[in-house]
Amino acid sequence: MEPVTDALEEICRRLAGVADGAVADYIPQLALADPAAFGLALVSMDGHRYQAGDAHTPFTIQSVSKPFVYALALADLGPDAVAARVGAEPSGEAFNAISLEPGTGRPANPMVNAGAIVATSLVRGADAGERFERIRACLSAFAGRALDVDEEVYASEAATGDRNRALAYLMRAAGALDGDVGEEVDTYFRQCSVRVTACDLAAMAATLAHGGANPVTGEQVVTEDVATRVMAVMATCGMYDRAGTWLLDVGLPAKSGVAGGLIAVSPARFGIAVYSPPLDEAGNPVRGVRALTEVSRRFGLHMMRPA
Ligand code: GLU
Repeated sequence: MEPVTDALEEICRRLAGVADGAVADYIPQLALADPAAFGLALVSMDGHRYQAGDAHTPFTIQSVSKPFVYALALADLGPDAVAARVGAEPSGEAFNAISLEPGTGRPANPMVNAGAIVATSLVRGADAGERFERIRACLSAFAGRALDVDEEVYASEAATGDRNRALAYLMRAAGALDGDVGEEVDTYFRQCSVRVTACDLAAMAATLAHGGANPVTGEQVVTEDVATRVMAVMATCGMYDRAGTWLLDVGLPAKSGVAGGLIAVSPARFGIAVYSPPLDEAGNPVRGVRALTEVSRRFGLHMMRPA
């Protein structure tokens, strides 16, 4: 056997019995996920894929879309115009927190919902349909294959998304969000409902690790500068209100989502992803956090460790 696959399979076997956490149910369709599903995938800089467990099981990307749509906004508008609209400071709060700058309504960072809705609204396009198509195409280029939308999760999300609508209205009232609130939030719901597997997410993370070039397809999806900025924001803001503990323990840029996806990036080495639906109180996948903590320790990947 191959040592990386061996390590992933061993971690998958050992953590399969961890029964802590609960599957997200605030979006009814997400509550249907199998709590036992557990998959790991890793993509290296030479485009090699390694996997274990349910690495091909589809689920919705949810908040793991946020760094990639932020990347698209940065590519469209440049860093200064984006920074004027969404900050880069950890909020220390939950994903759906109402954490807006007093006076301006500018959200703290693009990894919480408020900031992600603004980042989505900054993506260029003639209308909402074209803007979503650009988002889907961008997520697909990061993954290296055409991704589609889980229409049932999208409908469930849209039917229960009042908190996100409220956040968007607050931001528009403060001048932080332009355009039609209904359309902006709808595009965000569609973006969250894009269907991926752990293998897709590992390729997406590996593209960031590889300076914005997908190591499997060779496509330069975003510039190295954009990829670096995105990883920096992931490092400080990617794990909701556990971002500090995560950086301390694991030391890698990361992003989690409520459907159970979790990615981490080891710059210039690889992208890794876990799928496991049960979440801790902060909304991060329990087995995913355990698995990536182990991977980081076992292979000495903490960013602050001298090489
Ligand atoms: N669609 C979710 C929401 O905005 C995404 C949340 C997440 O994955 O953290 O409520």
